Amino acid sequence: MREISVSVEDCIGCGACVKACVGGVVTIEDREGRRYITFPRGCEESCVACEDVCPTKAISFHEERATGDSPIELVFSLVRCERCGAPFTTERIMGYLESRLHDRRSRECLCPTCRQHRLCEALRGKGEEGRDPRIHQER
Ligand code: SF4
Ligand code: SF4
Repeated sequence: MREISVSVEDCIGCGACVKACVGGVVTIEDREGRRYITFPRGCEESCVACEDVCPTKAISFHEERATGDSPIELVFSLVRCERCGAPFTTERIMGYLESRLHDRRSRECLCPTCRQHRLCEALRGKGEEGRDPRIHQER
């Protein structure tokens, strides 16, 4: 069985490895303001899906036999949405995005639902303001 190694310093808690895991052995749970990501100590599958999708290259494998049964558990503090207050992402993900995105608008801390609402509001506003009155009159 290959040993799995996950870098505590590099993992941002995005959960991409959980979605990619074909064996369903990497798990994620958000509870009480924290995110828990759990890996088995070793994996018998021959894939490298989790390693491939990891944006920070935090996962690596070692061919020697995995030692010990205790899983690897990583814990992250969750950030709350500025609008609705729901915890939805990790502080580390926010830091990771901020270090890569230079547009200040992208730093707004909104959950996916509130982000969608805000986009709808913006589109509605743009629709009103952006309408050409001549086109309206010709109809
Ligand atoms: S190698 Fe990674 S993605 Fe594949 S089954 Fe094992 S833990 Fe899951
Ligand atoms: S994909 Fe990488 S960064 Fe994201 S939770 Fe898994 S190990 Fe951590």
